[in-house]
Amino acid sequence: MKRISALAVTLAAVAMLAGCGEKTADIDGARIAAADKNAGEWVTHGRTYGEQRFSPLDKVNVASAGQLGLSWSFDLPEDRGVEATPLVADGVMYTTSSWSIVRAFDAKTGKLLWEFDPQVPRKTGVKACCDSVNRGVALWEGRVYVGALDGRLIALDAKTGKQVWSTVTVDQSKPYTITGAPRVIKGKVLIGNGGAEFGVRGYLSAYDARNGKMLWRFYTVPGEQTTDGAASDAAMKIARPTWNGEFWKVGGGGTVWDSMAYDPDLDLLYIGVGNGTPWNRDIRSPGGGDNLFLSSVVALKPDTGAYVWHYQTTPGESWDYTATQHIILADLTIAGKPVKALMQAPKNGFFYVIDRTNGKLISANNYVPVSWATGIDPASGRPVETPNARYGSGPALAMPGPLGGHNWQPMAFSPKTGLVYIPAQEIPFPYMQPGGANANFRYEPGAWNIGVDSLIAAMPDDQAGIKAVRASLKGRLIAWDPLTQTEKWSVKHSGPWNGGVLATAGGLVFQGSATGELAAYDAATGKKVWSFDAQTGIVAPPISYEIDGEQYIAVMAGWGGGFALTIGAGADPRSDGPRRVLVFKLGGKSKLPARPVSTRDFPALPAVTGSPAQIAAGKTTFATYCGVCHGSSAVSDFSIPDLRYSPVITDAAVFKGVVIDGDRVENGMVSFSRFIDAAKAEAVRQYLLSLAHGERDRLAAAKPRK
Ligand code: CA
Repeated sequence: MKRISALAVTLAAVAMLAGCGEKTADIDGARIAAADKNAGEWVTHGRTYGEQRFSPLDKVNVASAGQLGLSWSFDLPEDRGVEATPLVADGVMYTTSSWSIVRAFDAKTGKLLWEFDPQVPRKTGVKACCDSVNRGVALWEGRVYVGALDGRLIALDAKTGKQVWSTVTVDQSKPYTITGAPRVIKGKVLIGNGGAEFGVRGYLSAYDARNGKMLWRFYTVPGEQTTDGAASDAAMKIARPTWNGEFWKVGGGGTVWDSMAYDPDLDLLYIGVGNGTPWNRDIRSPGGGDNLFLSSVVALKPDTGAYVWHYQTTPGESWDYTATQHIILADLTIAGKPVKALMQAPKNGFFYVIDRTNGKLISANNYVPVSWATGIDPASGRPVETPNARYGSGPALAMPGPLGGHNWQPMAFSPKTGLVYIPAQEIPFPYMQPGGANANFRYEPGAWNIGVDSLIAAMPDDQAGIKAVRASLKGRLIAWDPLTQTEKWSVKHSGPWNGGVLATAGGLVFQGSATGELAAYDAATGKKVWSFDAQTGIVAPPISYEIDGEQYIAVMAGWGGGFALTIGAGADPRSDGPRRVLVFKLGGKSKLPARPVSTRDFPALPAVTGSPAQIAAGKTTFATYCGVCHGSSAVSDFSIPDLRYSPVITDAAVFKGVVIDGDRVENGMVSFSRFIDAAKAEAVRQYLLSLAHGERDRLAAAKPRK
């Protein structure tokens, strides 16, 4: 063994001293717990462990907000959805873009400090139901943690962006993906995953922040075995009797793909659990059952992953009504008594106030129109379902639909106003048994396995129909009083799928919109006091931080995500604008680069040669396998190619090459040869050609576009 030289020892000592001098991202539990005393920072996903997304900064306020201007911006090279919450510690901003790419910026100047690309294989993209997005990083003791889309959890050096360790958290042969932000509690990095639409078994895992060693895993739904040797074994004894049939063959679902919160005093970790695989309970669990812990909030001990309590928002989930939506912890006074509350507005349309010490329901009321239940029974905590809510005796047009009354876009709670600000939406959906009977459902590994008819839910392919759909889709920012369970005020947007929310001590609520407007509203009244044209749709939530006495407002801009891909064209988004980091301060004088002009031209379209029967067959195949990414009825928001405009459809051999042979795998378009043969591919092409001709003729007949 080589002897260590005196020089090496000296150099090491100097390096250690330098390390002590700069405490870059030296975050620990005490610092996160003290976040309200460090008002200028944003060191964990929801700013505090309680995830209120409330900034105590108040220099930007109702009176001064009009002076907000752009301080700096950074145009991202990626062109997919951007959903991240940036974190800011010690003057550095850490954020993510699509394909799990991490960047660090000087938070004052916008100078790029480093970039880390985990090189996610682009073929992973088709495993992601809802775009190749990422919602942000976690910080802990000088390191940055990111969950990569392909299921890796990666630790980076916060100073350099160099990888320290990487561990695979999923069976990569299965359709698991990670889009959520990790959280760190007492040196344990917590990460879940998604994939329930395709067929997986959900769980949350804890890893040692120092070395990536797995410490515990909590499965949210039972497996085939009575024990997994996992933290969830005892809880599965409660869950197993609520299931029927051979659900484990397709995984059962219940993924923990986004929300978590932590109460350090109670030492309880709260996780939000997703929908079942498939959505349709008649198929998933024949004979019924609540199917625990689908669509539940579950409280765990963070040291061991041991189960403490659960509250199931949608027993026997059958509509993709996940309870993975943002969880907020707050101490409220209800009927004169202090209550440790947990609040959530899950997809199912009801706003819940739950006692977070024991999981008991305090109150619930619908925050958007709801058709599947008339209310939540206060005694049992269970919904009172309407007749045919489960679409057993024919199609049921339901509100909310699978995209929810509220999706992943975070809410915010202001302790000053006592209000929760919800990025709400109204997107109805016609649920129907597949082919009119369950018997026609066939699980296909890696395909979209939802167990409901996907053709009846397809976007109409005529203009009147599309117009009618657009008119039925709504989006609002709702200020909700959790004490009275009523709406205090709301702001109407032009459509659904707008941005997450930030509340501040300056009496403001910030939210971006699908149309690219970042706005500040008076938190008490909803009056708009400032806005900025980002030139691109916004879905990510804003944050606030302070450096050298100046308050900053930051947001990631760039439209995308589940709604955008499937029926984004049903809204009126600015989906093809640049993806950006935008940072504002009072008196900011920077200017955005000019918005690139988008051109959408049809290729030279050959004649449609397919028979009506072939085109109809192509439509069915498209609705089953393609529409979830390329847009329902091939009407895309252009963040993934609108195939009506694609030269690929003009040539049978090229089209087959892409669909069957995987010629565009580097873009994320894998081969679909497991599901689609050459004849089916040609039928899809003929269907797309017929749509392209129709759209071209319609636009030619209409007034020329400006
Ligand atoms: Ca889902």
